[in-house]
Amino acid sequence: MNYTRSSALFSEAEHVIPGGVNSPVRAFKAVGGTPVFVKEAKGAYLIDEDGNSYIDYINSWGPMILGHAHKPVVDAVIEKTKLGTSFGTPTAIETEIARLAVSMVPNIDKIRFVNSGTEACMSAVRLARGYTKKDKIIKFAGCYHGHSDSFLIQAGSGAVTFGSPNSPGVTQGTAKDTLLAKYNDIANVKDIVEANAGEIACIILEPVAGNMGCVPPKEGFLEALRLLCDAHNILLIFDEVMTGFRLAKGGAQELFNVKADIVCFGKVIGGGLPVGAFAARAEIMNYLAPLGPVYQAGTLSGNPLAMAAGLAMLTELNDDAGIFKRLEEKTAYLHKGLSKVLNDNKIVHTINRTGSMISVHFSDAPVVDFDSAALGNNTFFKQFFHGLLDQGIYIAPSAFETWFISDALSYEDLDKTINAVNIVVKTFK
Ligand SMILES: *Cc1c(COP(=O)(O)O)cnc(C)c1O
Repeated sequence: MNYTRSSALFSEAEHVIPGGVNSPVRAFKAVGGTPVFVKEAKGAYLIDEDGNSYIDYINSWGPMILGHAHKPVVDAVIEKTKLGTSFGTPTAIETEIARLAVSMVPNIDKIRFVNSGTEACMSAVRLARGYTKKDKIIKFAGCYHGHSDSFLIQAGSGAVTFGSPNSPGVTQGTAKDTLLAKYNDIANVKDIVEANAGEIACIILEPVAGNMGCVPPKEGFLEALRLLCDAHNILLIFDEVMTGFRLAKGGAQELFNVKADIVCFGKVIGGGLPVGAFAARAEIMNYLAPLGPVYQAGTLSGNPLAMAAGLAMLTELNDDAGIFKRLEEKTAYLHKGLSKVLNDNKIVHTINRTGSMISVHFSDAPVVDFDSAALGNNTFFKQFFHGLLDQGIYIAPSAFETWFISDALSYEDLDKTINAVNIVVKTFK
C-alpha cells in the first residue's frame, strides 16, 4: 500500500500538534511507522487520504457499534444542527435520552451527561467521595478510566504503551489516595480494604477490562467485590465507558447480573460525538449540584448535536432485539477462525473474548490481569499490526487494545480478515 499522503500530513501535523496527534494512542509509536490519516468512513470500512481502504476493528475505539456514518445517526445530527448548535440552556432532548438510558440500564434512576469518558469517571469518583465522606479509592492495574490525575496510576493501554504508567504532573498527594489492586485477585483487594479500614470511598473497575486487551472478570470476581463493598460501606463503580450499551442493553451489570452503585458511560452513548455520562440511584445522584453539595458542571454538557447522535444510537440498540446476540455471534466466528489459523501456523497465542470485544495475545499464558497481559511477544505484534495494515485490516497500534466488532462487519469481511491473518503470520520472524 502507498501511504505517501498520510506521511506528508503527519509531518505537517508534527510541527503544530505534539507528536502529530491529539490522543497518544493514535500514534504508531509502539509499532513504528507513521499513522494513517483517515478521510472518511462508511459501514465497516475506513478510507485514508491515499485512497486505501481498511476493514475497521477499532471503530473509533468503541463508539461505532453500528458501523461508520450510520444513516439514522448522521441524519439526526444534520437535522439538529440546522436548529442551532449550543444554547447553554436545558433542552427537551436531554430528558429524552436520559429517560431512554435509565430505562435500558438496571439499577439507575438518574444520569448526568458530560463530554467524555474521562469526565464521567472523574466526576463519579468525586461524587463517591462526597457521598461517603471518605478520600481513598481502589483502582486496578491495567484498567483505564481516562486521564484525570487520580487514575494515572498504572493506567493500561495508552499509558503502558508509552512507558509512563505514572505520569509526571500527578502529585504525590493525589497519588497517595489511589490504591492499586490486581485485577481478578479478590484476596489482594480484601487485603487493601482491611489495611485502609474506614478510609475507602469507592472501588472503580472496568467490569470487563478492555484496556489491557480484553480481560473478562473471573467467575465470582464481580460478585465478591459487591459483597466486599457492602460490608465496608464502599461504593462500587463500574466504568462502563467501553462495555456500556455494547455487551448488552444494560451493559455489564445486565450481562453478569451484578449491581454497581455508580456507572460511567462514554463511547457508544454518544453515537460518535463527544459524550460521557454517569448514573446512579437517586439518593446518590441527588448529592450533585444544584441539588446537593458535590460540584460538577459543563458549558457544552448535554449539547444538542451530541444528544441527537446518542439518542439515535441508543434508540436503535433498544429497538433491535437481535443486535447483541448478532454481535456476539460474529465475534465468536472471528475467534474460531483466528484460533484455527494461529494453531495451523503453530503461533503461540491466547484469545480472550466477551460479547463484541476480542483480543489476540502472543503468549500461551492465560491473560487475566495486567502482568499476564504484558507477557505477549511484542516483536510478533508489530509484524502482525503492519502486516494486517498492508492487507487492508485496521487494528489498534498497540498489543494492549481490544478489537471492537461492529454490526456493519459482514461474514465476508470476517473471512477476509481471517485469510489476511493466515498470510501475515506466515511471515513472522
Ligand atoms: C475510553 C475510556 C475512558 C475514557 O474516555 P474518553 O472519552 O477517552 O475520555 C474511560 N474508561 C474506559 C473504560 C475507557 O475505555
